[in-house]
Amino acid sequence: MTLVEQAPQDRAVGNRAEVVVDLDAIAANTAALRERVDRPLMAVVKADGYGHGLLPAARAVLAGGADALGVAVLEEALALRAAGITAPVLAWLNGPGEDHAAALRADVEVSVNAAWGLAEVVAAARATGRTARVHLTIDTGLGREGATPDEWPQLVAAAARAQADGEVAVVGLWSHLAYADAPRHPTIGAQVRVFEEAVAVARAAGLTGARRHLANSAATIALPGTWFDMVRPGVALYGLDPLGGNPAQYGLRPAMTVQARVVLTKRVPAGAGVSYGHTYSPAQATTLALVPVGYADGVPRAAGNRARVLAGGAQRRIAGRVCMDQFVLDVGDDPVAVGDPVVLWGPGTGGEPTAQQWADAVETIHYELVTRVGGRFRRRYVGTAGVR
Ligand SMILES: *Cc1c(COP(=O)(O)O)cnc(C)c1O
Repeated sequence: MTLVEQAPQDRAVGNRAEVVVDLDAIAANTAALRERVDRPLMAVVKADGYGHGLLPAARAVLAGGADALGVAVLEEALALRAAGITAPVLAWLNGPGEDHAAALRADVEVSVNAAWGLAEVVAAARATGRTARVHLTIDTGLGREGATPDEWPQLVAAAARAQADGEVAVVGLWSHLAYADAPRHPTIGAQVRVFEEAVAVARAAGLTGARRHLANSAATIALPGTWFDMVRPGVALYGLDPLGGNPAQYGLRPAMTVQARVVLTKRVPAGAGVSYGHTYSPAQATTLALVPVGYADGVPRAAGNRARVLAGGAQRRIAGRVCMDQFVLDVGDDPVAVGDPVVLWGPGTGGEPTAQQWADAVETIHYELVTRVGGRFRRRYVGTAGVR
């Protein structure tokens, strides 16, 4: 599939800038990971499916064999339900006053970090007459969500009482790793040990029906000792390697291609100043090509004079600053014309840079790039996975 070849009639405004999402790649990546771990897989589709679209991504991972869906916040879970998705869904980032009754009515599983959170869930269970399906979170060393090992026995005891009363069913015990992308890091073994101790405490308190889950994408790829009863990958479903290498070595392919069309070209003399602050100046007379996307669309401003794009058959560094709505390329004497495609990042199979290369160029991670690209890019789907 060549994403950048379009019929001339497609050289229209609607095609000015688009994020092309390959649904079949998302489904195939899911299937590859599911086969690798040979146990239930909760596919993480938070943050609008990592920028690929919540609902299409959810349908594609389910078509690829995902057993459950994971999101950060309740609104994301409710959007899945409103669209008719019936697979198990967990929302793990719940604040005080969260609408747990809505979660219960929509059959959304919720995560609990603390006694006050459990009390809110129990209140909602009483109000709705439903049993809340709850995952308890233990902070095994990330220092983020979860009860500390000191708080854990009390939380577990309260959850066991609520379970005995029929108000909650504890269906998950989970934690999250700090260094999964450094598979030999000593914190990993330490976190696994703390997790296992926490599971033992929960089981001794009678919480025996819960699935244990710990592994994000990096751990799903590199750390079989963290897989327990279910894995919880996100970024790898979209074909990006959380370990920073080539995703093809794990049978993964990037699902996102970000492209735009040249809206203007012009000849300028040697020494011309290009874009705000004139941080770029061509040494010879040259052709400049204007690309109609900028930082308001999620193209990082830090990409100016650093990141490369594919245009006119070659990779070229962005010339000068990235502006709010546009950036400029120096295409030399090459015959780049108005309407020609410019690929920012994609799978890398057509000569374009990858999201990983962009991340390296702007000193971030590909997660941030794919989740922030948006603005005035139009999203277009190719492939059929999960499409009814
Ligand atoms: C985002 C997230 C994941 C998925 O992480 P990836 O690195 O994208 O695989 C899993 N679990 C939790 C708690 C998360 O916040």
